[in-house]
Amino acid sequence: MELAGLTVFNELSNSREPFKPLRGKEVRMFVCGPTVQDYMHVGHARTYIFYDLVSRHLAHLGFSMKTVINMTDIDESIVRASESAGVSIGDFIERYMLAYRKDMEGIGVKGLYRFEPVSNYLGEMKRQISELLKRGFAYQADGCIFFDTSKSPHFGDLAHMSRQELSLRPLELYPDKRNILDFSLWRKAPDGAPLFDSPWGKGWPGWHIQDTAVAISELGMQYDIHGGAYELIYPHHEAEIAQAEALNGVRPYVRYWIYTGLVTISGRKMSKSEGNTTYVRDILKDYGSDPLRLYVLSVPYRADMDFDTDGLKAQADALGGMRDRLAHIDERKASRSGARRLAEAFDELLNDDFNAPAALELCRRAVDRPEEALQGGVTIEDVKSALYGLSSILGVDLVG
Ligand SMILES: [Zn+2]
Repeated sequence: MELAGLTVFNELSNSREPFKPLRGKEVRMFVCGPTVQDYMHVGHARTYIFYDLVSRHLAHLGFSMKTVINMTDIDESIVRASESAGVSIGDFIERYMLAYRKDMEGIGVKGLYRFEPVSNYLGEMKRQISELLKRGFAYQADGCIFFDTSKSPHFGDLAHMSRQELSLRPLELYPDKRNILDFSLWRKAPDGAPLFDSPWGKGWPGWHIQDTAVAISELGMQYDIHGGAYELIYPHHEAEIAQAEALNGVRPYVRYWIYTGLVTISGRKMSKSEGNTTYVRDILKDYGSDPLRLYVLSVPYRADMDFDTDGLKAQADALGGMRDRLAHIDERKASRSGARRLAEAFDELLNDDFNAPAALELCRRAVDRPEEALQGGVTIEDVKSALYGLSSILGVDLVG
């Protein structure tokens, strides 16, 4: 089924395309989730809020959504962080997993319905690695199993880079790898890490196979949307595509690759060393979810976003002002069609590659100058009922 009107920017083709799901009325989407080593920060929140909007909008258009987000609970950074916190790995993971679920709820993410720890999929990871070995896409060296990227003609397509260009950014430096771009599927575990049994000895799954294990188990060999932040394109998503297409023999593994931009804090990169990590739990305590969602959705999703507390305050004030004006709009002559037009105009903007900034602007105009925005007389109740409906798509209570 082709949905009249909805177009999305697909990173794989580097162009805007009509949205056409693979399974008619059902849309399957996978979003790369967090590594559970710290509390959720505002950069993560931006990504999850955006895909939550995608999910809510598609559901509103009548699609049944099957969406999965993974939680990386096997990673070297977790081993190191739990050591420096002086907590066992198990307790450490449990603490941050719970905190993550709570923050996800706190920021109103309800469209991403499955939240899966990757450690539940170790069996599938091993099955996929065995299959890749059997098919000649993987080999053993340096006590690890590597994916042979020379067998993958499309490696680099998503990043729009040649193998030579990618070679300037080599990762995973092992002396016996066949090609500089090869990445590990199974490897030696870092010191202090729990070890997992496998047919190739005790070890640890590579990062990329963790995601294809979750995604292929839950969404099948081919699905509609893969999301995440831009920085995940290489090596993570190139590797996911190489693995999945080698395993399944189906191309493209994912139809639409959609990305969110970077978040900086007052113009600076957010990092532990800068000491400017901005946690969602603190924002929720002081402001609640609505101003944060509005802030995120008021920036074009592919653009970089600069976050600061003044900006958050401004969103909170603007929302308060809007609710206040809405409560005091003069009664006007009734015209149900006005409210319908508002909802239609809103849908059209979200159909335009999820143009939430313009959709929000439309809502503001509807409150400030209802006659103009709605092209006709409306009552308070008409505007309110339209905005109630739009609030549930945005995940923001515009009406108060
Ligand atoms: Zn991922």
